[in-house]
Order: sequence, then structure tokens, then C-alpha cells
Amino acid sequence: MTKTLMFLCQHQEENPEVVRLVIIIAAILLGGFFVYLGVTRIFYFFEMAYVEYIKKSLFYNHLYFKKRSLTIAQTDVLIEYIKFYNRLSPRYKSYFEHRVLQILNRIEFIGKDITVTEEMKTIIAATLVKLTFGLRDYKIKSVERVILYPDEFYSQTNKTLHKGEFNLGYKALVLSWKDVLHGYAIADDNLNLAVHEFTHAIHFYYMQVRRYSTSAAIFLNSYVELINKLDADDALKTKLIRSKFLRDYAYTNQYEFLSVLIETFIESPMEFKEYFPGIYGKIKSMLGFNFEGY
Ligand SMILES: [Zn+2]
Repeated sequence: MTKTLMFLCQHQEENPEVVRLVIIIAAILLGGFFVYLGVTRIFYFFEMAYVEYIKKSLFYNHLYFKKRSLTIAQTDVLIEYIKFYNRLSPRYKSYFEHRVLQILNRIEFIGKDITVTEEMKTIIAATLVKLTFGLRDYKIKSVERVILYPDEFYSQTNKTLHKGEFNLGYKALVLSWKDVLHGYAIADDNLNLAVHEFTHAIHFYYMQVRRYSTSAAIFLNSYVELINKLDADDALKTKLIRSKFLRDYAYTNQYEFLSVLIETFIESPMEFKEYFPGIYGKIKSMLGFNFEGY
């Protein structure tokens, strides 16, 4: 110890300018860090106040320091399956692809009696990206893994056969691949398993981060407004239930109501707008969906 330290001390004594420079650089870096911290805190404070009291809109949505692209094969999957992606402008397509890649890097895919392909991963990641594309907080941390079964699977949670489930404790989405594909094969039957289960995950995650995520505030505040609207308007509520526009499963509880609502919104936006414009408007606001086709 002594030899090295003595050498360093002597070295420093001989080079006070070097020590001074190191201290100055450290002070600049530390100062810069605190300035950055302060500026971001002020930014989020004002953005949250704006969302809460003025308009449910983010100050910005897409800002990436290093945008990354998908492979041609992955892009082909988006073109084939994701209608939403095909309608975006080239600039927004590049944002979409960047987000898909980020999600693919975050989520672990596990196949049970099925080989998980790049196509499967891309379709599933793109579903999450689509649902959150109007919001900034798209890295939904309540999903760390996606477990795929070829068909319906036996759920340990309630000892029955399931097509899909969201397990909050295990941070997992469990899906029957056959039913994920079915959701995309028929685009307007208001059934999309991946959309349904990801909505559960987004809902829970946003409830956890509501205090500091402006995206979560937009989503949850709009949902509360929608529920209040229905509670205050018996005629609208009765019309919604009697129309069977939402399948009966929606009325199981508030979580299923939200998931079925979003599934229906994603699959049949024009009918939703025509029959229930007030409810449609609230869902559009929840998702920040100002995109072609919605
Ligand atoms: Zn559900």
C-alpha cells in the first residue's frame, strides 16, 4: 500500500495542476448532474400539472437519442400483421420499430411445447407498442416475460383451461399462440387475446406509477372520467349493456370491462365512434390515439 500511495502523493505534489483539473471536471460533472435532475423534475412537475388541470396531452411523445431499426424479416411481420403500423407515416413507422426493438430486448419469451419464433415475438411486442404508441411510458414493467403455449393451457390460478392470463406476481403474460393468431386473423370480431391481456398489464403498471408518470395519469384519469360518465348516465349505461356491443365478459369486473372495452375499440373503432361517441372519445383520450383509422 505504502509504496503506491507514496508514489501517488509525490506524483500529485509534483502536478497540482492535474489535481486542480480533476477537481474542476468532477465539479462540472456533479453540477451538470444536479442541473439535469432539477430540470427534469421541473419539466415533469409542469407536464403533470398540465395533464391534471389543462389538457390530457404530453409535452412530447417520441424523442430518441439513438433510434434503432428492425431487420427486414421483422419489418415484414409488421407489414403482414399490424394494420396500425401500415397506416403510419415513414417517420412514425421508424418510432414504432424502435419501440418494438426495445420491447423485444426487455421481454423474455418462453415456449411451452412450442418453439418461439421471431415472428411470434415481433407480433406480441408490436401489440404492446400499438396500445401504448400514443403515450410516452411504453416500457410496461409489469411484464418481464411472455409464456407461450400452442393452444389453451391449464391455469394453476383457478384450475381451468385458459386462453390467456396476466400474472402480476410473476410479471408474466401467458398466451395460447393459436388464440393470439386468431385475434389477428379476424380483425373486426372484437376479440384479440394479446390486446386483452396486455391491457390488464398496462392498467396494473399505470396504477403503480400513477404518481410520477404523466402517461399513466392520462390513461387513468380518462378511465375514471369514463366510469363517472357511465355512472351518471343510466340511459347510456343501459344502451351499452342492451346493445351487446361489448361481449358479456366485460361486465365481470372493472378490469375485464377495461380490457374488453379496449379490445373493441382497437378492432371496431368506426362502429364504436358511431354508436357510442362519448365512450369512444374517452378511450381515444386514454390511449392518446390520434392516428389514422381512429
Ligand atoms: Zn381479462
